[in-house]
Amino acid sequence: MTEKKQAALIVGGGVAGMQAALDIASQGFKVYLVERTPSIGGRMAQIDKTFPTLDCSACILTPKLSEVAHHKNITLLTYSEVGTVTGKSGDFRVRVRRKARFVKEDLCAGCGDCAAECPVEIPNEFDMNLGFRKAIYVGFPQATPNVYTVDKENCIDCGRCLKVCQRNAIDLEMKDKTMDLHVGAIIVATGFELFDVSQYPRLGYGHYANVIHAMEFERIINAAGPTHGHLVRLSDGKKPHSIGFIQCVGARDVQKGVPYCSRVCCMYSIKNAVMALEHYPDAEVWVYYADIRAFGKGFEEFYEMAKKRFGVKFVRGRVAEVMEGKNTGNLVVKVEDTESSKVRLIEHDMVVISPGVIPSEGMHTMATKMGIEQTDDGYVQIDHSFFGPILTKVPGVFVCGCADGPKDIPDSVSAGSAAAMKATIILSKGGV
Ligand SMILES: Cc1cc2nc3c(=O)[nH]c(=O)nc-3n(C[C@H](O)[C@H](O)[C@H](O)COP(=O)(O)OP(=O)(O)OC[C@H]3O[C@@H](n4cnc5c(N)ncnc54)[C@H](O)[C@@H]3O)c2cc1C
Repeated sequence: MTEKKQAALIVGGGVAGMQAALDIASQGFKVYLVERTPSIGGRMAQIDKTFPTLDCSACILTPKLSEVAHHKNITLLTYSEVGTVTGKSGDFRVRVRRKARFVKEDLCAGCGDCAAECPVEIPNEFDMNLGFRKAIYVGFPQATPNVYTVDKENCIDCGRCLKVCQRNAIDLEMKDKTMDLHVGAIIVATGFELFDVSQYPRLGYGHYANVIHAMEFERIINAAGPTHGHLVRLSDGKKPHSIGFIQCVGARDVQKGVPYCSRVCCMYSIKNAVMALEHYPDAEVWVYYADIRAFGKGFEEFYEMAKKRFGVKFVRGRVAEVMEGKNTGNLVVKVEDTESSKVRLIEHDMVVISPGVIPSEGMHTMATKMGIEQTDDGYVQIDHSFFGPILTKVPGVFVCGCADGPKDIPDSVSAGSAAAMKATIILSKGGV
């Protein structure tokens, strides 16, 4: 296919942004995909299995990462951020800041000799700080592009990496650069962050070692994660015999400024409850919930399977408190079981909190740059709930995935394709 003249900018390289990029690029238009971290992939790269099919997340995602990286019409601008945006639909001028990664992308072969030599070890954000990485690093094995980045804040400038790099790819003097783009349409696909569950001190996160949150669980149970997939407690490395999952933490809570349902927590917790039982069929797994929202295709069936085939126990009621037992590291969950109207105290070896989803960091700054509106919750305001779910109030700027509210992977991908369709209408007309 011959390359068409107009180009699109996509901000955010999670599944939604990647899908939008592929759909636009496959129609012959040029795509610039700006991702602020060193790799595309977003949150899907971190999760272990996907509900409701329990497919391996990395197995589905990796071919997509490669497709995006190798598409001739897509230019990946990772470790980059949008600076200024001017112009109008069909004719936007965008300045992008390319942060210095101190490794030349065109020379680095991703061999890892530099990291093997680096003496600095620091917590790996990709593993929710439960594992370690070097000061020169790729966050995860399938990182795309497969190019190392120097974390200058932690680098001690010992120069050992420079000595072992046979391709002379490392440049510790590298400076940030700017790049000016001319694009006809922009798609915002900046995804989400997790609610900070330490805002509920009564649930013990940050105080008790064996209270973790769902993304930490995803990394612990992952074969490529910090414990190589061994599901163990953090306090003593022991196998947990009883695990409690606590729902709606930082979701549906007006007092914490998150009145909305995060839409994915019920399903990801049921998934993780099933995964725990796949690891240890003799374990006891409990889910404390307000009500189960299993609205997607195959979700209700998955929920039923978790109860009937795997024996996950569901208790309806908001957890009042998590207490730690003396010297055992065990935890006691205090909950009012609203079906029996009884207050129950249930002991677990491990408690997993399900954080709600909030807008991505920096959303306000980006919305201001683009002139797009935000909802009271901080997400991108869509133009029309029925006929404009991927339109923003600014012509030529579209939104998809979790940037306008929580979504699961299939819905994020559908929105990515929808936004791509709307963008290409503009690109093919060459204007509004
Ligand atoms: C614990 C947990 C488990 C889950 N399990 C499942 C599951 O099993 N099945 C399922 O369907 N869904 C699951 N989900 C939901 C799934 O993670 C989301 O549907 C999906 O990640 C949304 O994709 P996205 O592209 O919209 O956002 P993200 O995955 O968040 O990607 C957004 C990307 O944009 C980048 N970005 C952000 N701001 C900027 C900026 N200003 N400039 C440039 N780049 C930026 C981010 O770095 C990121 O790479 C789970 C969620 C959680 C929290």
